[in-house]
Amino acid sequence: METKEKYQVLLYYQYVHIEDPEEYAREHLKFCKEVGLKGRILVAHEGINGTVSGTIEQTNTYMEMMHNDERFADMVFKIDESDQHTFKKMHVRPRPELVTLRLEDDVNPKETTGQYLSPQEFNQALQDENTVVLDARNDYEYDLGHFRGAIRPDIHTFRDLPDWVRENKEKLEGKKVLTYCTGGIRCEKFSGWLKKEGFDDVGQLHGGIVTYGKDPEVQGELWDGQLYVFDERISVPVNRKEHVIVGKDYFDGEPCERYVNCANPECNKQILCSEENEHKYMRGCTHECRVSERNMYVNEHNLTEEDIKARLARIAEEDGVTQA
Ligand SMILES: [Zn+2]
Repeated sequence: METKEKYQVLLYYQYVHIEDPEEYAREHLKFCKEVGLKGRILVAHEGINGTVSGTIEQTNTYMEMMHNDERFADMVFKIDESDQHTFKKMHVRPRPELVTLRLEDDVNPKETTGQYLSPQEFNQALQDENTVVLDARNDYEYDLGHFRGAIRPDIHTFRDLPDWVRENKEKLEGKKVLTYCTGGIRCEKFSGWLKKEGFDDVGQLHGGIVTYGKDPEVQGELWDGQLYVFDERISVPVNRKEHVIVGKDYFDGEPCERYVNCANPECNKQILCSEENEHKYMRGCTHECRVSERNMYVNEHNLTEEDIKARLARIAEEDGVTQA
């Protein structure tokens, strides 16, 4: 009997000087394609940041090749098992920064960064009264899952985080500030920025949420919900001890961990939405998106004008809103 081939998803980064990011990106893309990987890799003068999927053999070949390059000899790979590729294509892109902060005064995490906390140390610090926990990710990532009691910065992109901190200084002052993100790379720079900004006691979760969830001792404890990931899986579990749902359905506020994109391609907004509500609202986040000529849900389900009218009438009746 044929057994299904096993895949792995790798997540990794390294802050290290790369002389010619454009040239490196070109060669690296060629190599990744030869190996058969799929995924997304960013290359900058300051280093590399990537996530790729492939068979066990393909991903092992890649890790071995990277470790043979002295610049990446000690690079840590976080490995998830998978049944298939989690990306459709392979991209390697040169970028000015690995994570976009666009600071006037850039931070080199190899010189200035927050204290690295292991999963056990982070878990302890979370329970300390004098600690404030700041999620260094975006709003839609937080909404699917986060550390219990963490502050949710109201931002949609990472580069807005410094301004948010400056406007909300009082939330952090006089406390030990803990930051965390998916794999740790955003916190390397952000925690360094916090120190430069005058916060003395800053700790970052080393290896990010991914490492925290895999730690055999803490097993993701004090994490609520799921972890948002930037590939086709969209979400992965973290807390192996208990599962508390924190996500809320965009339409009715019921517990929900299912992300979909608004069916209007011009909107494409990511919303948490049950299957039932996806059908009820034709996957449109607003009335305008529902009736958009380009609504993809309407095409996918071959809805007629009559069908659309009937759905809109049901929404108006049940939600008590009259749509002009
Ligand atoms: Zn929309």
